Amino acid sequence: METAKLLGPLEMKTDAPLIYLDNNATTQVDPAVVEEMLPYLTTFYGNPSSAYAFGKRVGAAIDLARERVARLLDCEPGEILFTSCGTESTNTAIHSALAVDRDRQHIVTTRVEHSATLKTCELLAKRGYEITWLGVDSNGQINLRELETAIRPDTALVSVMWANNETGTLFPMDRIQDIVTEKGVLFHSDAVQVIGKLPVRLRDSRIHLLSLSGHKLHCPKGVGVLYVNRRSRFSAFMTGGGQENGRRAGTENVASIVGLGKACELAGQNIGVEALQVRTMRDSFEKAVLTRIPGSRVNGDIHSRLPNTSNLAFEGMDSEALLMVLDDAGICCSAGSACTTGSLYPSHVLKAMGFSDAHARSSLRFSFGRFNTNSDVDRTISALERAVERLRPLAVS
Ligand code: PLP
Repeated sequence: METAKLLGPLEMKTDAPLIYLDNNATTQVDPAVVEEMLPYLTTFYGNPSSAYAFGKRVGAAIDLARERVARLLDCEPGEILFTSCGTESTNTAIHSALAVDRDRQHIVTTRVEHSATLKTCELLAKRGYEITWLGVDSNGQINLRELETAIRPDTALVSVMWANNETGTLFPMDRIQDIVTEKGVLFHSDAVQVIGKLPVRLRDSRIHLLSLSGHKLHCPKGVGVLYVNRRSRFSAFMTGGGQENGRRAGTENVASIVGLGKACELAGQNIGVEALQVRTMRDSFEKAVLTRIPGSRVNGDIHSRLPNTSNLAFEGMDSEALLMVLDDAGICCSAGSACTTGSLYPSHVLKAMGFSDAHARSSLRFSFGRFNTNSDVDRTISALERAVERLRPLAVS
């Protein structure tokens, strides 16, 4: 029996169609991606490492996917290493940097990273490695002078995310690269929220290692990429078989890799138009909310932000309660990042930006994507307005 049948229908409190405004958590898989993947779940099930034609045909599909990913990132196919997710890519980058030079065991990162970096560095600190945590200002921006002084002769890696998953704030990548290059240290960027949303040209960059995740760009979950600059030293995290040129052991997730190749091809074709459409939708949503809902304000750097993300605080409100009311109306958004929802901790990102627990707990993230429509925006604005009107008297009583 299909699992969907086993688990029964989606229980929703409304007959209205679902509105998915949580594209920073994950994205709807593009039907063209599914179509590209299907033969690798059915007909072409060979092992890509096998020596016969049936296996080699599957290996060729991985090669094509590698070329497509490299084209989107403007780098060499040989610099693309397929992993299982963004988290694995980041873990690999950090552990590799510590392994390639035993005299360098210090890491510089920020307080607003995704838990993939945050928890890994916290664990490393417990094991005796030194971590310097860079703070951010109220827009979520780091202080570049602080970055400069944090880098030491024994620094193994600077790991700074490109765009924040909660607020969409974009860090000044060019200036960070200037500093890191001058200091001569390895640089990793968690670009999970950027790839597919903004153009990235790694050929001209001074980034050594970069993480991305398939499910953020309309590909299924379970596949990611670590870009490893061809001139950078690298030490494998997963050891075993010789897959990925000996740099990531384990039989490849072929169908998902094929899907990621297609997703990157589609992203490359649509990126300009899509970013503009999504930005227009996000901006009109935000403008309407800020005008119609008293006590609402934007969290993040409005001058340097992803085109799809709107993180809004609703003064005096409880974001969990708002989330529930919106859920009842068939609207999906997020209070903090998806990975920490369920725990009652206020967002570490908003806390690092200097906001109170109450402010952090009054904030919701709406993240738009290519499958959203103007009608989604209109319905969400009205539902949000009604939800705040309904809950606000409770919040102040
Ligand atoms: N980094 C950032 C900025 C993210 O937003 C996410 C996912 O939310 C990750 C890393 C982890 O990616 P994955 O879910 O593929 O492990």
